[in-house]
Amino acid sequence: MVITQSGLYNDERGQRFQVTQGLNGYTLVAGKQCLFRIRLDQTLLDEIENIFIRVKRTDGAQRTYYIVLPKGQLIIDSASPDDPNIGIIIRGVAFPRSGIYDFSFIVRASDHDLLRLSTGQVCFFPTKDLLLNVVFGRHEGFFEPTIGWYVDLYTSMRRLGSMFPVRDGVGEISPDSRQNGIRYMIGNPCDGWKPNYYSCVYDQTRQFNNSSVESFPDQIHVTVEFRWGFYTPGDSAGYDPNPGGNAGRPPLPYSDLRRASAVGGVFPPNSRRYITAPLIAQEIGHNFGLESPNSPHYDGESHSEDPEIDDPYKAFDFVRERAYYPPQPGLFLGDIMSWAWNQGNNSTLFNTYDWEQLRSEFMNLPSTGSDINPNYLTEIEPSKIKVNEFLVEPQLSTKQEYYEKSLRPAEGYQWEWTLQGLQSIKPAVLDKRSNQPISDRVHNLLAQLAKDKADIVYLPIGNRPLTIAGKNIEDTYNGNVNNMRFEKPDGIESWCS
Ligand SMILES: [Zn+2]
Repeated sequence: MVITQSGLYNDERGQRFQVTQGLNGYTLVAGKQCLFRIRLDQTLLDEIENIFIRVKRTDGAQRTYYIVLPKGQLIIDSASPDDPNIGIIIRGVAFPRSGIYDFSFIVRASDHDLLRLSTGQVCFFPTKDLLLNVVFGRHEGFFEPTIGWYVDLYTSMRRLGSMFPVRDGVGEISPDSRQNGIRYMIGNPCDGWKPNYYSCVYDQTRQFNNSSVESFPDQIHVTVEFRWGFYTPGDSAGYDPNPGGNAGRPPLPYSDLRRASAVGGVFPPNSRRYITAPLIAQEIGHNFGLESPNSPHYDGESHSEDPEIDDPYKAFDFVRERAYYPPQPGLFLGDIMSWAWNQGNNSTLFNTYDWEQLRSEFMNLPSTGSDINPNYLTEIEPSKIKVNEFLVEPQLSTKQEYYEKSLRPAEGYQWEWTLQGLQSIKPAVLDKRSNQPISDRVHNLLAQLAKDKADIVYLPIGNRPLTIAGKNIEDTYNGNVNNMRFEKPDGIESWCS
């Protein structure tokens, strides 16, 4: 069996695990982080010292990665007793391009294995990046964009990166960074009460699109008109009874451009519930045909008739790095394309039908993505080894020797494996490997890697987080610009069969 969707599965030994990109039933997309949750007896949790992960592309088109995470980088969550209960986040850079990968996990105590699990074949489908131009509304003499709007927008863009079937990374549109799944620019604000409003907004998008050059061919796909609503009667800035949006095309001569207009912010007033991300997401969704008449959730017009997301218990929130269940008090996990978008940034997802429709519609965009400009980590030249990456030189006599030589702590210090990974410490009591640069514990860990003939190993050193796996990972990629490379022009089905 080839796994193609987020869900619960058994490995060949019958051990239960979950792989998810948010909601069970989502088509797996390449380059987007996954959570792997593995059932492990509660009584064994205390014994965990580290976890070895192997990510292997089955057609050999990519080198195999090894990742070692300390216990402190695992998500240990027993919200639902029915669920597997250790979670490992692996970022999309480990599986940047569509195709089949397999993942193996060894959960280790100090000197023995607690659990070994292999997922078997997991197939990722291609995706493309979504580029947005955000234009703030203003009303001269009444209101101007505030710092609060900017903060809301930055936060909401990160949330959109998690909600949409796009690859990892959220950042500004730039010729230097063309591998983020959501890329956006913030244009100049436009006065919605002036007759030149539409030219003010859409000439900015037009100008950007017309200025594309071969080396920087990016195009804006959707223009987002955004302002906060003023929901309190008597506010001198104005009065909006409700938040709202509009996905209709702008008037001529701009009707060829997509619009997602949103009056968002905090609603209800003083509730601390930000509703901007699901509101923008719904308007973008309409631009790509949601809610489709073919959807089981279709309400007969253009929305979903089912406010509650199916199976919220096993849904995972990658922004807050926790399960959606239990929900925030008074809220439930809402379907973005239903009225329940109003559950806010932290309590909404697309339903599984819409997720796959968006993915396949995005494939028609003139854009970068998983199979055009994939975000590989493999192509590291030895001269560019970062401190938290090892690349094994085949000419060294043994891999163990190489690993150990790679670790040169300062005089009197020793590398120790801690809850946060490798740390350079000054041992109070020298163990039997005194004067050695590594502790016994680290020696054992490296021996395990050597035994597995690991070529490329990522593990946290010092306080630097890994980009490839673990918790609290920076969500924006920078640099690593490849030329546009179209690698898989034909149908995608063949990848998964
Ligand atoms: Zn709508």
